[in-house]
Amino acid sequence: MLHAIVSDIHGNLEALEAVLADIERHRPASMVCLGDFVGYGASPNECIDRLRPLVEHAVVGNHDLAACGKLQLTYFNTNAAMAAQWTEAVLTPENRRYIAELPFAVKWRDTLLVHASPAEPENWHYVLSPVEAQAEMDAYQEALCFIGHSHYAGTFDRWDGKVHYSRAPEIRIETGHRYLVNVGAVGQPRDGNPHAAYVLYDDIERVVRHVRVEYDVAGAMKRILDAGLPRFLAERLQWGE
Ligand code: ZN
Repeated sequence: MLHAIVSDIHGNLEALEAVLADIERHRPASMVCLGDFVGYGASPNECIDRLRPLVEHAVVGNHDLAACGKLQLTYFNTNAAMAAQWTEAVLTPENRRYIAELPFAVKWRDTLLVHASPAEPENWHYVLSPVEAQAEMDAYQEALCFIGHSHYAGTFDRWDGKVHYSRAPEIRIETGHRYLVNVGAVGQPRDGNPHAAYVLYDDIERVVRHVRVEYDVAGAMKRILDAGLPRFLAERLQWGE
């Protein structure tokens, strides 16, 4: 069966709508979200309202907690902190409650879902290199763990005790291998490709597919500027950085 995994929407409704339209075409059996519904973008409530009824499970991201006042902004750079404060001010009580109560990790089908790092989901480590992935992969029993947080889509694959990194769009899940898959960001890709990222996972065919979707970047940028959020948060969307 096919499943869709999205992460790091960051209040970017234009990117989310494009991704949901693409997902719709594949008719997945379920969808899950790896957190950071909000922060940076100008449509936090719209993104939660749209996604919440569609996801079977969601985990919490650091920007979600920051927008509920549950994470110190000293961890954030100036732009991120300004966006978190703006988001906190506009979030509806209902949406604030929803993201504040999301778990850090969820066991889902035969996989593990976390926002940042499986070893310490509440400490927001980035997993960027095979060396970092090696340690993280000792922290879970499942063959497959899906993460977000770095906004950098790619797959760590461990076999014979060694971790290999791949940015291939399609990964075949091999018996005896273990995987840490970063699904990339819907709302603020930082891997040099401005197209929105998400993952399709077929748990019968044992295939992970990294998908990229074009969206109305100019529309998302305009919304950020109109909201009075920092200009850099709009501009980075066109570069995918
Ligand atoms: Zn994020």
